[in-house]
Amino acid sequence: MWATHEIEVELLRLLQAMHRFRAADPEVDRDALRFRLDILWSRLPPLLEGRDAAPIREISDVEGLGARLTVALQRTSDVLDRADLDEEAYAQALAGLEAFATPIHDLSLTALHQSGQGHSELQWRLDDIYTAILIASLGLGLSTLALITLLIFQLGRSQKLLDVKERANARIEHLAHHDVLTGLPNRRLFNDRLAQALAGAGRRSSGVGLHFIDVDSFKAINDTFGHMVGDEVLQEAARRMAATIREVDTLARIAGDEFAAIQIDVKAAAGVMELSERLIKAFEQPFEIAGNDLQVSVSIGSTLFPDDGGTTERLLLNADVALHRAKLNGRRQGALFDKVMMEKEKRRRRLGVSLERAHDQGELSVRYQPKFSTANCRLMGFEALIRWERGANLEVSPTEFIPIAESNGSIVPIGDWVLSTACRDMAGSAARHQLDVSLAINLSPVQIQKDDCIRRFLAIARSLEFDPRRLEFEITETSLFNANASTLANIRDLHEAGARICLDDFGTGYSSLSHLQALPLNAMKLDRSLVARLDDHRTQCICEGITALGHRLGLEVVGEGAETEWQYNELVRMGCDQVQGYYLGRPMRIEELDGFMSRIARATV
Ligand code: C2E
Ligand code: MG
Ligand code: MG
Repeated sequence: MWATHEIEVELLRLLQAMHRFRAADPEVDRDALRFRLDILWSRLPPLLEGRDAAPIREISDVEGLGARLTVALQRTSDVLDRADLDEEAYAQALAGLEAFATPIHDLSLTALHQSGQGHSELQWRLDDIYTAILIASLGLGLSTLALITLLIFQLGRSQKLLDVKERANARIEHLAHHDVLTGLPNRRLFNDRLAQALAGAGRRSSGVGLHFIDVDSFKAINDTFGHMVGDEVLQEAARRMAATIREVDTLARIAGDEFAAIQIDVKAAAGVMELSERLIKAFEQPFEIAGNDLQVSVSIGSTLFPDDGGTTERLLLNADVALHRAKLNGRRQGALFDKVMMEKEKRRRRLGVSLERAHDQGELSVRYQPKFSTANCRLMGFEALIRWERGANLEVSPTEFIPIAESNGSIVPIGDWVLSTACRDMAGSAARHQLDVSLAINLSPVQIQKDDCIRRFLAIARSLEFDPRRLEFEITETSLFNANASTLANIRDLHEAGARICLDDFGTGYSSLSHLQALPLNAMKLDRSLVARLDDHRTQCICEGITALGHRLGLEVVGEGAETEWQYNELVRMGCDQVQGYYLGRPMRIEELDGFMSRIARATV
């Protein structure tokens, strides 16, 4: 019943927001609309799949309605994603969604009626009792004493039934405002409490902290250990967080693995961060569940009223943006909202939308940077580096757009495209100049954790007649930090297929030496930030140590980012096997590659 009610409420909120947006209300922008849209979207699965909504699915065509609503939401989302808002399309999307108000309200009523049937039965039983009393009183043959006894007896029973009814009502009232699994306030009560907190803070001139808390990798916990363990994780997380906050504050479960905390009477941002840190600390000890010691952690996005925003809508959006930032920064941490963060988030979203089209519009290209052997200055191969030119002189760095592509999943098709483009380019150029060179491809963790990635990579190489043994895959150390079993298995499979594996950017990330031990590696790359600081004595010692470690493990060591002759000589002196950097060659367009290769081929003859 609550699933339908939630959808009805969220739909009305979205419609109201869309009307305000159309009326150019400055409080409602596209991000706010997308936020409302996402919430409504997230309310659909409990109705379409949840156990509690099973009875209502039996009597109504919930699936059909859900499917139509999904289409209408998608259409609205598309309209909002367009750079220039098409007012007519916006009006049509709004009308399309408004058409759902009545059917969803009817569905809500049907659900209400369903759950109300239990009450009706109670009512019928009460009616029976009163009928019995009436008959009894009319029975002429009964003595007064018997009549009074019966009356007292029946009144006692009806009182009991009334108590039962009251308790049932109280329970229903409780369920309407609380989450069944954790017993915490649900999103509905959370919204009320947040509105109350803001009104109270306005009167007292104090602040309110709002925290969005997300359990890290909850899906992986569910997939690995099953839903029963997943449920217990949520319950234990709720218990630990509830014990951390004050009684006057509110902790709510607002979606699957998302919690929210409202912290009243806060004086400054420091107070908000202090609670956020305590909540993260509450997860330091592992969870003991069903014989497993699980290391659970949370990411938290926090914001402060009134400093960061004066309305509930704005605060919810801020907390969401801050949570997103905390996750991007590597999870298991908190982030406090600020205006720069919002600007970055807006840019991220804009870039995310344009990136989807960039591929089709030919804005992506691949450059090739050479790597040389230090022993004989021989050209060993090229590293493929993607480029995105959004227009004349408007290049977006891969360090900015690769994480966006990772978060929206487009890294998978983009990565396949880089591989096939590079194999094709390299096969052509290298064959023309009869050079036996390798091709290095950077892989993102999102690509390697997909089950079928190895099959696809090999199929791409084979279809272009590119020998997989000439391929080298570069994987950054940092990306392996959260690697799961399938990622590690895929890396082993790639290695078994003959490709070389190189640990990129070594020495900056978490430098987990366990990866050196567990993975089948051929090479490691000294990170260019270390090479840039080679004039510092300590950095020099670190680089020498890493080079020696790599050699002891039988790995080739590549120094990357050598910009000067001095840096190049230092890397040679330390014993690096290969060097890459602007000093030896910048990343080149395919058009420049032929000229470069023919110069090299002439030099080696
Ligand atoms: P990376 O794999 O460590 O690539 C080396 C980066 O250093 C490249 O930056 C390259 O242009 C730059 N570089 C090379 N020599 C020098 C030098 O002497 N001085 C300086 N200052 N920089 C030098 P770029 O192309 O901006 O790429 C940045 C990162 O983006 C790459 O770091 C890689 O992690 C990622 N990336 C690039 N292309 C792809 C791709 O196709 N797929 C994936 N998943 N990631 C990619
Ligand atoms: Mg690389
Ligand atoms: Mg690197």
